[in-house]
Amino acid sequence: MADLPPLREVIARHDLAASKALGQNFLLDEQLLARIAAIPGDLAGRAVLEVGPGPGGLTRALLRAGARVTAIEMDRRCLPALAELGEAFPGQLRVVEGDALKLEHDALMAGERYAVLSNLPYNVGTALFTRWLGGESWPPCWTSLTLMFQQEVAQRIVSPADTSAYGRLAVLAQWRSTAQLAMKVHRSAFTPPPKVMSAIVHVEPAAMPGGVSPRALERLTQAAFGQRRKMLRQSVKGIPGAIEALAAVGIEAERRAETLTVGDFVAIARVLSGPQETIASTRANSDFKRN
Ligand code: SAM
Repeated sequence: MADLPPLREVIARHDLAASKALGQNFLLDEQLLARIAAIPGDLAGRAVLEVGPGPGGLTRALLRAGARVTAIEMDRRCLPALAELGEAFPGQLRVVEGDALKLEHDALMAGERYAVLSNLPYNVGTALFTRWLGGESWPPCWTSLTLMFQQEVAQRIVSPADTSAYGRLAVLAQWRSTAQLAMKVHRSAFTPPPKVMSAIVHVEPAAMPGGVSPRALERLTQAAFGQRRKMLRQSVKGIPGAIEALAAVGIEAERRAETLTVGDFVAIARVLSGPQETIASTRANSDFKRN
């Protein structure tokens, strides 16, 4: 196994003072990093996409696990340190300089299926998470997502119905995937320590329920949780056919979004994804009759 210098030394030698603007909080404990790299299971020979390698702490754990890593980093200062790491693991590391929000990940991975691991700044993490989970085609090219979040966001992703943390992120993460809280990470594990605690969420794709358009579900949850204190009758009334869809699946319009299970949302979205014209025209007809 390659003998690598301690991460603190790499950071000092390459002058990688953490940038607040880039959301840099580095993990330096190699045992912790090895445990994170083990969350998706055996990575030997597997393709991995890492977003935001920074000085390469998680990257070296992934390389040691035998993964073939493609790493996207937008901070140019980190590139020499990552190049050194690549030399220690010949043929295993490819570094792409750029903004992960602007790159096409599947194209970058050249059609191969890949695991995603990342310790990202929180705003970028949530944006990428919704993108990875919101795709029209399913199963996706990624085989798992292992991502660090603020603990509070991680709770929102894995929480069940009828809890205060339950909302759009939970439905998005659970309707065609399994989402687990894999590890809590204390703020003191980071350099510099962030203000809040963190947690790692591990997501794997599951079977997609038939007849449901992701867009219909997204629109439904956006409306329902956008006014989560209101009754569904009020919150979803802007979606053509939604009130009729509630009735069709036997959900009372007096209920509030957080009381509906993921399965309930899927059932409503399935009706809305159906012959839309039928529902829309029924409504148009009844509007027509009222006028
Ligand atoms: N993976 C390292 C670790 O665990 O110690 C660094 C984690 S640090 C929280 C986040 C890293 O993501 C930084 O290196 C930062 O430059 C990089 N980053 C931030 N926004 C990015 C983006 N949009 N695309 C790619 N990398 C980004």
